[in-house]
Amino acid sequence: MQYFNSNTVLYLNGDLVKASEAGTDLYSQSLHYGYAVFEGIRAYSTHNGVRVFKARAHYERLKRSCELVHIPFPWDINDLIRQTYKVLELNNLKDAYIRPLVYCGPNMSLSSPTEVNIMIGAWEWAAYLGNKQLKVGISSYQRPNPKSMPMEAKVSAHYVNSILATTEAKSKGFDEAILLDMNNHVAEAPGANIFVEKNGKLYTPPAGHILPGITRATVIQLCRRLDIECIERVLTVEDLKNADSAFFCGTAVEIAGIKSVDETVFPLKWQDSIGATLQRTYKCLVLEKQNYEVII
Ligand code: PMP
Repeated sequence: MQYFNSNTVLYLNGDLVKASEAGTDLYSQSLHYGYAVFEGIRAYSTHNGVRVFKARAHYERLKRSCELVHIPFPWDINDLIRQTYKVLELNNLKDAYIRPLVYCGPNMSLSSPTEVNIMIGAWEWAAYLGNKQLKVGISSYQRPNPKSMPMEAKVSAHYVNSILATTEAKSKGFDEAILLDMNNHVAEAPGANIFVEKNGKLYTPPAGHILPGITRATVIQLCRRLDIECIERVLTVEDLKNADSAFFCGTAVEIAGIKSVDETVFPLKWQDSIGATLQRTYKCLVLEKQNYEVII
């Protein structure tokens, strides 16, 4: 995967610069300790032009993530949104993935930083997990204890846990992992939230041990609009394996159906599931198409 070429431009600390000429300090606290905060945002080519989906919510979460781990955030969100559109335009990107990253300057101590940087890069990226239904496995790794790290913050260091879980899942022949929390309750995927369907209702783990995603919030909102009952509740592995259907959701994965968990195959056909309806509706929403599907 090539993220940039000799013409690519990114936003770095107030300037639009060539990606091939931008660099970072090898003594950056972020590089040594994973002490950085980032976002993952998508832009879509809509009939209203290129639109960055939920741009404000993502930059507000970037700011909140910084606050939660004591990284200063001296930037204006409106300006960052404007710069994001500029990055897309200058690189002629329409359907794209956008990666804002806040990283620290040189500092080998374990104190909060005085120097912070922000970069916004973008590249073309297809569906993260493809468009097939996924075979997933319960990970032997757990999500970190929220008393060790604020789990609602999107901090780079958290993603070592995600990389370990995905690598393990793939080595066992699964497409992706599901991580439990420290209480052995279902938490989330390494880069997505999870919903399960049972008897015509949806369930999703509550905030606390997860990154409560912007897509998750969108799904909950769509459920209200479509009159689908959606309940935030602690889920056991048994709840998950006894479900009729399940799906992941996230900015990168969008909505991705799950075929099986370990050896358990979900009984409901994906096309008949609430997840499939939400998948179509989500697509309409991000593409700014008006005709939301209504379930009668
Ligand atoms: N959980 C984790 C661990 C993630 O990395 C992501 C992706 N940001 C999500 C959930 C989904 O969040 P969002 O819908 O905001 O992309």
